[in-house]
Amino acid sequence: MSQYWSPAVQRLTPYVPGEQPQERVIKLNTNENPYPPAPGVSEALREYAVDHLRLYPDPTSRALRETLAAAYDVSVAETFVGNGSDEILAFAFQAFFCHGAPLDVPAITYSFYPVYANLYGVELRKHPLNAQWEVDLDALSGTGERSGVIFANPNAPTGHAHSLDAIEALLQRVTDRVVLVDEAYVDFGAETAVALIGRYPNLLVTGTFSKSRSLAGLRLGYAMGSPELIDGLQRVKDSFNSYPVDSLASLVGIEALKDKDHFDACREHVITTRERTRQRLETLGFEVLPSKANFILTQHPDYEGAQLFAGLRERSILVRHFNTTELSNFLRISIGTDDEMDSLLEALETLCR
Ligand SMILES: *Cc1c(COP(=O)(O)O)cnc(C)c1O
Repeated sequence: MSQYWSPAVQRLTPYVPGEQPQERVIKLNTNENPYPPAPGVSEALREYAVDHLRLYPDPTSRALRETLAAAYDVSVAETFVGNGSDEILAFAFQAFFCHGAPLDVPAITYSFYPVYANLYGVELRKHPLNAQWEVDLDALSGTGERSGVIFANPNAPTGHAHSLDAIEALLQRVTDRVVLVDEAYVDFGAETAVALIGRYPNLLVTGTFSKSRSLAGLRLGYAMGSPELIDGLQRVKDSFNSYPVDSLASLVGIEALKDKDHFDACREHVITTRERTRQRLETLGFEVLPSKANFILTQHPDYEGAQLFAGLRERSILVRHFNTTELSNFLRISIGTDDEMDSLLEALETLCR
């Protein structure tokens, strides 16, 4: 605490990201992609005329949004891009969820939502997951005044995804406020809700280039929704930073979107490795929640999460352990290369005997 901080800043509880170690470790703690970005990215960067950096980027990111719109079969007016999808989530909280009523959210989900709720003074109405660790869409869309609904599909850190039909059923029940579906992990086996945008003007879908497109270091995210929602995001963006997406990020994002073959190959590889890892963990006695994401949430009936986390850390393998009551026995393990997962499984084999 400092006397110079405003009361609002004194009250903040900032998000704590997974550790970014400086030494060499097998890094399975922040859901990065183990494969490189599309080859076109390095080529485009090599050919980039550095003199262009004198100029401000296009504040509307038109070229990137055109490529995004073509890739997802929506209009440019239905697209928005930002400095990582975290930034877009922050804009969305300010644009749509500050109505003085509670925001419906799963009790276990992406831990940045409570951070933004605190930052923007939004009250959360938290709904427990069901017995299968799935987001309870019925509870989330119950009656009563609300400022909106937000959830991740697939959810984090559980990995479960609802079908498009289930999400559409929720949209039929919640029509007065924005429903934000965070699709950070959708490309690893779940269905995107983008196809519903034309029919539900209150649906906002967010996504990121950080995971399935191997560009976490670039900081690029997107949102898709009706033009009136996009206008709402733009109003906040242009009251905060006119140029959140720099020229290089736009260029790289376009290259990544263009290479569908590379994108598909990487995500299929991750999915195959995920399923193989799941089987082998189950052989070791682990309970593994079914996942449509590039991570798995797992626990062992005989070994504590914290203990396994520490044992892996000693062997230079970094996974994520959450210190909350519900999750303290679990480990969240990002899907790395096959070799990395083999090292993980070998280490767990030693730790669990
Ligand atoms: C990783 C993640 C994000 C943030 O992605 P960035 O684009 O890197 O900011 C958003 N939502 C969820 C659920 C995530 O796991």
